[in-house]
Amino acid sequence: MAMWAELKRQGVKRFGEAGAWAYDEWKKLNDIFFYGENKPGPIIWGSTPQGKSLGYYYVSKNLIYLHKNLMRPVYPAPAFNWGIRHLNKRVASDVLLHEMIHQRVNQTGGWVRETSHNNKRFVEEVNRIAAVLGIDIKAEVIEKITTRDNPIWQSESGCLTLKELSDFPYSSRPYSYYYTQR
Ligand SMILES: [Zn+2]
Repeated sequence: MAMWAELKRQGVKRFGEAGAWAYDEWKKLNDIFFYGENKPGPIIWGSTPQGKSLGYYYVSKNLIYLHKNLMRPVYPAPAFNWGIRHLNKRVASDVLLHEMIHQRVNQTGGWVRETSHNNKRFVEEVNRIAAVLGIDIKAEVIEKITTRDNPIWQSESGCLTLKELSDFPYSSRPYSYYYTQR
């Protein structure tokens, strides 16, 4: 993991403690969920490309963006003074885990459907990781059904909706999970 150490060094230089945290957390999640097999890439704190998601995986660069707003407190706390003390680590860790699923899928052969979430590879990873987390959910690839010219994505009953699949694991955590300080 010489490359990981070098990437972490750069992350610390650029983002201080938040940089260190991201690389340490990545390494921990890699061991717990991905057999230590994900290949490390840069982790950048900033704005995500479309600005609407909390994380983003840039396939061609093996780069993970984490939205800087993840450093904001969830608990009532001063609105100013961003920093590692206010980083909601549980949220940020789940966002990182989500992006690492994309990383694994990409590094182990990619996917064949039109979306990066609604495809067999991503769905398999979601089911596997949910089991490790002890989250009782089931995911399946969701088929598009066209009725009266309106395409809809109809998930099997008891399975994650397209939105839930796209927001795993945060969509599947109990509400209280993120409000428990670690
Ligand atoms: Zn995603």
